[in-house]
Amino acid sequence: MTKNFETLRDRYGIPLEAIVKSDLLRLGVHFTPEALKYSAAFKAKSYFIFSFDRVTQESLSETEKHAAPEEMALIGGPFDFKRTIVSVRLNPKSPYIVIPAEAGIQLFYNNEKICDVTLLERPAYYEKNLANGKPVSDIAPTIEWGYLIYLTAFRLCQYWGKEEECQFCDINENYRQQKKERSYTAVKSIDEILEALSIIQETDTQRTSQAYTVTGGSITSQLNGQAEADFYAQYAEAIEKKFPGRWIGKAVVQALPEDEVQRLKNAGYQIYHPNYEVWDKNLFAQFCQGKDRTIGRDEWIRRVVDAAEIFGPQNVIPNFVAGIEMSQPHGFETVPEAIKSTKKGLEFFMSQGITPRFTVWCVEPNTTLSQTNNNPPPLEYFVNLLQIYRDTFRKYKLPIPPGYGEAGLGKAVFSVSAFMDVL
Ligand code: SF4
Repeated sequence: MTKNFETLRDRYGIPLEAIVKSDLLRLGVHFTPEALKYSAAFKAKSYFIFSFDRVTQESLSETEKHAAPEEMALIGGPFDFKRTIVSVRLNPKSPYIVIPAEAGIQLFYNNEKICDVTLLERPAYYEKNLANGKPVSDIAPTIEWGYLIYLTAFRLCQYWGKEEECQFCDINENYRQQKKERSYTAVKSIDEILEALSIIQETDTQRTSQAYTVTGGSITSQLNGQAEADFYAQYAEAIEKKFPGRWIGKAVVQALPEDEVQRLKNAGYQIYHPNYEVWDKNLFAQFCQGKDRTIGRDEWIRRVVDAAEIFGPQNVIPNFVAGIEMSQPHGFETVPEAIKSTKKGLEFFMSQGITPRFTVWCVEPNTTLSQTNNNPPPLEYFVNLLQIYRDTFRKYKLPIPPGYGEAGLGKAVFSVSAFMDVL
Protein backbone atom coordinates (compact mmCIF):
# COMPACT_ATOMS: atom_id res chain seq x y z
CA MET A 1 0.00 0.00 0.00
CA THR A 2 2.67 2.45 0.94
CA LYS A 3 4.04 1.76 -2.58
CA ASN A 4 0.85 3.36 -3.89
CA PHE A 5 1.49 6.44 -1.72
CA GLU A 6 5.00 6.71 -3.12
CA THR A 7 3.72 6.39 -6.68
CA LEU A 8 1.25 9.24 -6.07
CA ARG A 9 3.95 11.32 -4.38
CA ASP A 10 6.22 10.97 -7.40
CA ARG A 11 3.43 11.55 -9.93
CA TYR A 12 2.04 14.74 -8.35
CA GLY A 13 4.92 16.07 -6.24
CA ILE A 14 2.85 15.99 -3.04
CA PRO A 15 4.52 14.96 0.24
CA LEU A 16 3.60 11.61 1.79
CA GLU A 17 2.28 13.33 4.92
CA ALA A 18 -0.36 15.20 2.87
CA ILE A 19 -1.27 12.00 1.00
CA VAL A 20 -1.82 9.98 4.18
CA LYS A 21 -3.72 12.89 5.74
CA SER A 22 -6.08 13.05 2.75
CA ASP A 23 -6.56 9.29 2.85
CA LEU A 24 -7.37 9.36 6.56
CA LEU A 25 -9.95 12.10 5.98
CA ARG A 26 -11.42 10.12 3.09
CA LEU A 27 -11.59 6.72 4.82
CA GLY A 28 -11.70 7.54 8.52
CA VAL A 29 -9.76 5.82 11.27
CA HIS A 30 -10.34 3.21 13.94
CA PHE A 31 -8.98 3.33 17.49
CA THR A 32 -8.62 0.04 19.38
CA PRO A 33 -10.15 0.00 22.90
CA GLU A 34 -6.62 0.22 24.37
CA ALA A 35 -5.77 3.23 22.18
CA LEU A 36 -9.03 4.87 23.29
CA LYS A 37 -8.11 4.26 26.91
CA TYR A 38 -4.93 6.23 26.20
CA SER A 39 -6.64 8.99 24.23
CA ALA A 40 -9.35 9.53 26.87
CA ALA A 41 -6.91 11.74 28.78
CA PHE A 42 -6.52 14.13 25.81
CA LYS A 43 -8.75 16.64 24.01
CA ALA A 44 -11.85 14.78 22.80
CA LYS A 45 -13.96 15.15 19.68
CA SER A 46 -16.53 17.90 20.24
CA TYR A 47 -18.72 17.38 17.15
CA PHE A 48 -18.31 21.08 16.52
CA ILE A 49 -20.79 21.27 13.61
CA PHE A 50 -21.26 18.13 11.50
CA SER A 51 -20.66 14.53 12.60
CA PHE A 52 -17.54 14.16 10.43
CA ASP A 53 -17.69 10.41 11.08
CA ARG A 54 -18.18 7.60 8.58
CA VAL A 55 -20.74 5.92 10.86
CA THR A 56 -23.63 7.03 13.06
CA GLN A 57 -23.27 7.61 16.79
CA GLU A 58 -25.47 4.55 17.32
CA SER A 59 -22.85 2.31 15.74
CA LEU A 60 -20.08 3.54 18.01
CA SER A 61 -19.24 2.28 21.50
CA GLU A 62 -19.62 4.67 24.44
CA THR A 63 -15.83 4.97 24.62
CA GLU A 64 -15.55 5.78 20.92
CA LYS A 65 -18.21 8.48 21.27
CA HIS A 66 -16.54 10.20 24.18
CA ALA A 67 -12.83 9.32 24.21
CA ALA A 68 -11.82 9.65 20.56
CA PRO A 69 -9.58 12.68 20.05
CA GLU A 70 -10.61 15.73 18.02
CA GLU A 71 -7.38 15.59 16.06
CA MET A 72 -4.14 13.69 15.97
CA ALA A 73 -0.62 14.64 14.94
CA LEU A 74 1.16 12.22 12.62
CA ILE A 75 4.88 12.25 13.26
CA GLY A 76 8.11 10.26 12.74
CA GLY A 77 7.85 6.57 11.90
CA PRO A 78 9.44 4.72 8.96
CA PHE A 79 8.86 7.69 6.60
CA ASP A 80 10.09 10.26 9.11
CA PHE A 81 6.89 12.31 8.95
CA LYS A 82 6.98 15.97 9.82
CA ARG A 83 4.22 16.81 12.30
CA THR A 84 0.90 16.76 10.42
CA ILE A 85 -2.41 17.55 12.12
CA VAL A 86 -5.45 15.60 10.97
CA SER A 87 -9.05 15.62 12.10
CA VAL A 88 -10.34 12.30 13.48
CA ARG A 89 -13.22 10.80 11.50
CA LEU A 90 -14.31 7.58 13.11
CA ASN A 91 -14.82 4.47 11.03
CA PRO A 92 -14.57 1.08 12.75
CA LYS A 93 -14.03 -0.53 9.32
CA SER A 94 -11.19 1.72 8.20
CA PRO A 95 -7.90 0.12 7.14
CA TYR A 96 -6.27 2.84 9.28
CA ILE A 97 -6.00 1.76 12.86
CA VAL A 98 -4.49 3.43 15.92
CA ILE A 99 -2.99 1.07 18.46
CA PRO A 100 -0.88 1.49 21.59
CA ALA A 101 2.90 1.63 21.27
CA GLU A 102 5.51 1.13 23.96
CA ALA A 103 5.06 4.77 24.77
CA GLY A 104 1.96 6.44 23.37
CA ILE A 105 0.09 5.33 20.25
CA GLN A 106 0.88 4.71 16.58
CA LEU A 107 -0.91 4.57 13.23
CA PHE A 108 -1.03 1.46 11.05
CA TYR A 109 -2.45 0.93 7.57
CA ASN A 110 -3.54 -2.71 7.78
CA ASN A 111 -0.30 -4.31 8.94
CA GLU A 112 2.09 -1.56 7.94
CA LYS A 113 3.25 0.99 10.42
CA ILE A 114 2.80 4.50 9.05
CA CYS A 115 3.93 6.77 11.87
CA ASP A 116 3.71 7.67 15.54
CA VAL A 117 0.73 9.66 16.78
CA THR A 118 0.64 12.42 19.36
CA LEU A 119 -2.47 14.02 20.81
CA LEU A 120 -3.27 17.47 22.11
CA GLU A 121 -3.40 17.89 25.88
CA ARG A 122 -6.88 18.73 27.05
CA PRO A 123 -6.81 22.52 27.49
CA ALA A 124 -7.68 23.95 30.91
CA TYR A 125 -10.87 25.53 29.52
CA TYR A 126 -12.19 22.08 28.57
CA GLU A 127 -12.31 21.24 32.29
CA LYS A 128 -14.70 24.11 32.96
CA ASN A 129 -18.44 24.67 32.72
CA LEU A 130 -20.49 27.80 32.34
CA ALA A 131 -22.65 28.98 35.25
CA ASN A 132 -25.63 27.20 33.63
CA GLY A 133 -23.67 23.92 33.69
CA LYS A 134 -22.92 23.68 29.95
CA PRO A 135 -19.33 22.67 29.14
CA VAL A 136 -17.08 25.09 27.27
CA SER A 137 -16.63 22.28 24.71
CA ASP A 138 -20.30 22.66 23.72
CA ILE A 139 -20.38 26.47 23.51
CA ALA A 140 -16.84 27.26 22.31
CA PRO A 141 -14.94 24.13 21.25
CA THR A 142 -11.56 24.57 19.62
CA ILE A 143 -10.10 22.79 16.61
CA GLU A 144 -6.94 23.15 14.48
CA TRP A 145 -4.78 22.17 17.46
CA GLY A 146 -6.36 24.88 19.61
CA TYR A 147 -5.91 27.67 17.02
CA LEU A 148 -9.58 28.15 16.07
CA ILE A 149 -12.54 28.63 18.41
CA TYR A 150 -15.51 27.19 16.56
CA LEU A 151 -18.75 28.94 17.42
CA THR A 152 -21.64 27.12 15.77
CA ALA A 153 -24.22 29.67 16.90
CA PHE A 154 -27.11 27.79 15.25
CA ARG A 155 -26.74 24.01 15.08
CA LEU A 156 -29.58 23.53 12.62
CA CYS A 157 -30.26 24.69 9.09
CA GLN A 158 -33.47 26.15 7.74
CA TYR A 159 -32.93 24.29 4.49
CA TRP A 160 -34.86 21.32 5.74
CA GLY A 161 -35.50 17.86 4.33
CA LYS A 162 -34.35 16.06 1.19
CA GLU A 163 -35.47 18.72 -1.28
CA GLU A 164 -33.71 21.56 0.52
CA GLU A 165 -30.69 20.44 2.54
CA CYS A 166 -27.36 20.20 0.77
CA GLN A 167 -27.01 16.53 -0.08
CA PHE A 168 -23.57 16.11 1.47
CA CYS A 169 -24.48 17.82 4.76
CA ASP A 170 -25.70 16.17 7.97
CA ILE A 171 -26.13 19.25 10.16
CA ASN A 172 -29.79 18.62 11.03
CA GLU A 173 -29.42 14.87 11.49
CA ASN A 174 -26.24 15.32 13.45
CA TYR A 175 -28.01 17.69 15.84
CA ARG A 176 -30.68 15.05 16.45
CA GLN A 177 -28.13 12.32 17.18
CA GLN A 178 -25.74 14.43 19.28
CA LYS A 179 -28.56 15.79 21.44
CA LYS A 180 -28.91 12.28 22.88
CA GLU A 181 -25.19 11.94 23.57
CA ARG A 182 -23.88 15.19 24.99
CA SER A 183 -24.66 18.80 25.88
CA TYR A 184 -25.49 20.22 22.45
CA THR A 185 -27.02 23.69 22.28
CA ALA A 186 -29.23 24.45 19.27
CA VAL A 187 -29.03 28.25 19.42
CA LYS A 188 -26.18 29.68 21.48
CA SER A 189 -26.92 32.91 23.28
CA ILE A 190 -24.49 35.80 23.13
CA ASP A 191 -24.12 35.63 26.90
CA GLU A 192 -23.14 31.97 26.78
CA ILE A 193 -20.58 32.65 24.09
CA LEU A 194 -19.07 35.62 25.93
CA GLU A 195 -18.87 33.60 29.14
CA ALA A 196 -17.15 30.71 27.36
CA LEU A 197 -14.72 33.10 25.68
CA SER A 198 -13.91 34.71 29.03
CA ILE A 199 -12.96 31.28 30.36
CA ILE A 200 -10.78 30.66 27.30
CA GLN A 201 -9.23 34.11 27.60
CA GLU A 202 -8.33 33.50 31.25
CA THR A 203 -6.93 30.00 30.83
CA ASP A 204 -5.33 30.07 27.36
CA THR A 205 -2.21 31.68 28.74
CA GLN A 206 -0.07 30.66 25.75
CA ARG A 207 -2.58 32.42 23.45
CA THR A 208 -2.85 29.32 21.27
CA SER A 209 -6.32 30.36 20.16
CA GLN A 210 -5.91 33.00 17.47
CA ALA A 211 -9.19 33.07 15.59
CA TYR A 212 -12.88 32.38 15.97
CA THR A 213 -15.40 31.25 13.44
CA VAL A 214 -19.06 32.11 13.80
CA THR A 215 -21.27 29.87 11.73
CA GLY A 216 -24.25 27.56 11.67
CA GLY A 217 -27.07 26.60 9.41
CA SER A 218 -28.55 28.96 6.87
CA ILE A 219 -31.39 31.24 7.92
CA THR A 220 -33.80 31.48 5.03
CA SER A 221 -36.53 33.37 6.84
CA GLN A 222 -35.80 34.57 10.36
CA LEU A 223 -34.38 33.24 13.60
CA ASN A 224 -35.44 34.95 16.82
CA GLY A 225 -36.84 37.72 14.65
CA GLN A 226 -33.57 38.28 12.78
CA ALA A 227 -32.47 37.63 9.22
CA GLU A 228 -29.22 35.75 8.56
CA ALA A 229 -26.82 38.72 8.40
CA ASP A 230 -28.27 40.32 11.55
CA PHE A 231 -28.30 37.05 13.46
CA TYR A 232 -24.66 36.24 12.73
CA ALA A 233 -23.45 39.87 12.92
CA GLN A 234 -24.59 40.22 16.54
CA TYR A 235 -21.99 37.69 17.73
CA ALA A 236 -18.97 39.51 16.31
CA GLU A 237 -20.35 42.80 17.57
CA ALA A 238 -20.56 41.47 21.11
CA ILE A 239 -17.22 39.64 20.96
CA GLU A 240 -15.34 42.61 19.51
CA LYS A 241 -16.88 44.94 22.09
CA LYS A 242 -15.77 42.73 24.98
CA PHE A 243 -12.44 41.47 23.57
CA PRO A 244 -11.40 44.03 20.93
CA GLY A 245 -8.97 42.50 18.43
CA ARG A 246 -8.15 39.49 20.66
CA TRP A 247 -8.97 37.00 17.88
CA ILE A 248 -9.38 37.13 14.09
CA GLY A 249 -13.14 36.94 13.49
CA LYS A 250 -14.45 34.81 10.63
CA ALA A 251 -18.02 34.35 9.42
CA VAL A 252 -19.14 31.26 7.53
CA VAL A 253 -22.56 32.17 6.19
CA GLN A 254 -24.35 32.21 2.84
CA ALA A 255 -23.35 34.42 -0.09
CA LEU A 256 -25.31 37.52 0.88
CA PRO A 257 -26.15 40.77 -0.96
CA GLU A 258 -23.58 43.53 -0.61
CA ASP A 259 -25.37 45.55 2.07
CA GLU A 260 -25.60 42.47 4.27
CA VAL A 261 -21.96 41.58 3.66
CA GLN A 262 -21.13 45.13 4.72
CA ARG A 263 -23.14 44.52 7.88
CA LEU A 264 -20.89 41.53 8.70
CA LYS A 265 -17.76 43.59 8.06
CA ASN A 266 -19.04 46.45 10.22
CA ALA A 267 -19.78 43.96 13.00
CA GLY A 268 -16.06 43.17 13.21
CA TYR A 269 -15.53 40.08 11.09
CA GLN A 270 -12.25 40.16 9.20
CA ILE A 271 -12.79 37.10 7.03
CA TYR A 272 -15.83 35.99 5.06
CA HIS A 273 -16.45 32.41 3.93
CA PRO A 274 -19.39 32.24 1.47
CA ASN A 275 -18.91 28.57 0.64
CA TYR A 276 -19.66 27.57 -2.95
CA GLU A 277 -19.41 23.82 -2.22
CA VAL A 278 -18.89 22.64 -5.82
CA TRP A 279 -17.91 24.53 -8.96
CA ASP A 280 -19.95 22.77 -11.65
CA LYS A 281 -23.23 24.59 -12.18
CA ASN A 282 -25.37 21.49 -12.69
CA LEU A 283 -23.87 19.75 -9.69
CA PHE A 284 -24.49 22.82 -7.52
CA ALA A 285 -28.15 22.68 -8.60
CA GLN A 286 -28.26 18.97 -7.85
CA PHE A 287 -26.43 18.95 -4.52
CA CYS A 288 -27.49 22.31 -3.07
CA GLN A 289 -31.12 22.42 -4.11
CA GLY A 290 -32.25 24.81 -1.37
CA LYS A 291 -29.48 27.30 -2.09
CA ASP A 292 -29.98 26.97 -5.82
CA ARG A 293 -33.69 27.72 -5.58
CA THR A 294 -33.30 30.56 -3.07
CA ILE A 295 -30.20 32.32 -4.39
CA GLY A 296 -29.09 30.50 -7.54
CA ARG A 297 -25.60 29.39 -8.45
CA ASP A 298 -24.67 32.32 -10.72
CA GLU A 299 -25.88 34.86 -8.20
CA TRP A 300 -23.98 32.98 -5.48
CA ILE A 301 -20.74 33.27 -7.42
CA ARG A 302 -21.43 36.94 -8.24
CA ARG A 303 -21.90 37.68 -4.57
CA VAL A 304 -18.62 35.96 -3.65
CA VAL A 305 -16.83 38.22 -6.13
CA ASP A 306 -18.69 41.34 -4.95
CA ALA A 307 -17.74 40.56 -1.35
CA ALA A 308 -14.08 41.08 -2.32
CA GLU A 309 -14.85 44.80 -2.70
CA ILE A 310 -15.91 44.92 0.93
CA PHE A 311 -13.56 42.50 2.70
CA GLY A 312 -10.63 42.66 0.28
CA PRO A 313 -10.08 39.67 -2.01
CA GLN A 314 -7.58 37.93 0.29
CA ASN A 315 -10.17 37.94 3.09
CA VAL A 316 -12.90 36.24 1.07
CA ILE A 317 -12.22 32.52 1.39
CA PRO A 318 -15.06 30.39 0.01
CA ASN A 319 -14.94 26.69 0.80
CA PHE A 320 -15.74 23.79 -1.49
CA VAL A 321 -16.36 20.21 -0.41
CA ALA A 322 -13.69 18.35 -2.33
CA GLY A 323 -14.86 15.10 -3.83
CA ILE A 324 -18.62 15.56 -4.02
CA GLU A 325 -18.19 16.30 -7.72
CA MET A 326 -17.31 12.60 -8.14
CA SER A 327 -20.32 11.23 -6.25
CA GLN A 328 -22.56 9.00 -8.31
CA PRO A 329 -24.90 8.92 -10.10
CA HIS A 330 -24.69 12.68 -10.86
CA GLY A 331 -20.99 13.47 -10.56
CA PHE A 332 -18.00 13.06 -12.85
CA GLU A 333 -16.93 9.49 -13.41
CA THR A 334 -13.21 10.03 -13.80
CA VAL A 335 -10.55 11.88 -11.85
CA PRO A 336 -9.38 13.99 -14.87
CA GLU A 337 -12.96 15.21 -15.54
CA ALA A 338 -13.52 16.12 -11.89
CA ILE A 339 -10.17 17.89 -11.64
CA LYS A 340 -10.78 19.80 -14.87
CA SER A 341 -14.04 21.19 -13.53
CA THR A 342 -12.69 22.03 -10.07
CA LYS A 343 -9.62 23.67 -11.60
CA LYS A 344 -11.86 26.03 -13.55
CA GLY A 345 -13.33 27.25 -10.27
CA LEU A 346 -9.88 27.72 -8.76
CA GLU A 347 -8.73 29.66 -11.84
CA PHE A 348 -11.86 31.81 -11.76
CA PHE A 349 -11.42 32.86 -8.13
CA MET A 350 -7.64 32.87 -7.79
CA SER A 351 -7.20 35.01 -10.93
CA GLN A 352 -9.23 37.65 -9.04
CA GLY A 353 -7.20 37.35 -5.85
CA ILE A 354 -9.81 35.29 -4.02
CA THR A 355 -8.37 32.11 -2.50
CA PRO A 356 -10.87 29.29 -2.06
CA ARG A 357 -10.09 26.53 0.38
CA PHE A 358 -11.46 23.03 0.62
CA THR A 359 -12.41 20.33 3.06
CA VAL A 360 -12.13 16.64 2.18
CA TRP A 361 -15.63 15.24 1.72
CA CYS A 362 -16.53 12.87 4.56
CA VAL A 363 -19.28 10.53 3.36
CA GLU A 364 -21.47 10.80 6.44
CA PRO A 365 -24.19 8.16 6.71
CA ASN A 366 -27.05 10.55 7.53
CA THR A 367 -26.83 12.41 4.24
CA THR A 368 -28.69 12.12 0.96
CA LEU A 369 -25.49 11.54 -1.03
CA SER A 370 -24.52 8.56 1.12
CA GLN A 371 -27.71 6.76 0.07
CA THR A 372 -26.42 6.30 -3.46
CA ASN A 373 -22.76 6.71 -2.84
CA ASN A 374 -21.15 5.26 0.22
CA ASN A 375 -17.63 5.24 -1.13
CA PRO A 376 -15.41 8.29 -1.26
CA PRO A 377 -13.60 9.28 -4.47
CA PRO A 378 -10.22 7.63 -5.12
CA LEU A 379 -7.20 8.90 -3.24
CA GLU A 380 -5.67 9.97 -6.54
CA TYR A 381 -8.37 12.64 -6.92
CA PHE A 382 -7.34 14.29 -3.63
CA VAL A 383 -3.64 14.15 -4.44
CA ASN A 384 -4.19 15.58 -7.90
CA LEU A 385 -6.37 18.30 -6.33
CA LEU A 386 -3.58 19.28 -3.92
CA GLN A 387 -1.25 19.59 -6.89
CA ILE A 388 -3.55 21.82 -8.97
CA TYR A 389 -4.50 23.85 -5.90
CA ARG A 390 -0.86 24.53 -5.02
CA ASP A 391 0.12 25.24 -8.64
CA THR A 392 -2.77 27.64 -9.28
CA PHE A 393 -2.07 29.39 -5.96
CA ARG A 394 1.56 29.85 -6.97
CA LYS A 395 0.69 30.92 -10.51
CA TYR A 396 -1.27 33.90 -9.16
CA LYS A 397 1.32 34.62 -6.43
CA LEU A 398 -1.36 34.75 -3.77
CA PRO A 399 -0.66 35.51 -0.12
CA ILE A 400 -1.06 32.72 2.48
CA PRO A 401 -4.75 32.79 3.48
CA PRO A 402 -5.13 34.72 6.74
CA GLY A 403 -6.81 33.14 9.75
CA TYR A 404 -5.27 29.69 9.37
CA GLY A 405 -1.98 30.04 11.18
CA GLU A 406 1.28 29.11 9.54
CA ALA A 407 1.43 27.25 6.23
CA GLY A 408 3.78 24.44 5.28
CA LEU A 409 4.64 20.90 6.20
CA GLY A 410 5.30 20.50 9.91
CA LYS A 411 3.65 23.85 10.68
CA ALA A 412 0.08 23.82 9.34
CA VAL A 413 -2.80 23.20 11.76
CA PHE A 414 -5.82 23.16 9.42
CA SER A 415 -7.04 19.61 9.94
CA VAL A 416 -9.82 18.82 7.44
CA SER A 417 -7.73 19.02 4.28
CA ALA A 418 -4.06 19.29 3.48
CA PHE A 419 -4.29 22.57 1.56
CA MET A 420 -2.24 24.48 4.14
CA ASP A 421 0.30 21.65 4.44
CA VAL A 422 1.29 21.95 0.78
CA LEU A 423 1.59 25.75 0.51
S1 SF4 B 1 -26.74 25.45 3.73
FE1 SF4 B 1 -26.31 23.34 3.15
S2 SF4 B 1 -24.19 22.97 3.87
FE2 SF4 B 1 -24.95 24.79 4.92
S3 SF4 B 1 -25.77 23.98 6.85
FE3 SF4 B 1 -27.49 24.14 5.39
S4 SF4 B 1 -27.64 22.14 4.48
FE4 SF4 B 1 -25.63 22.25 5.47
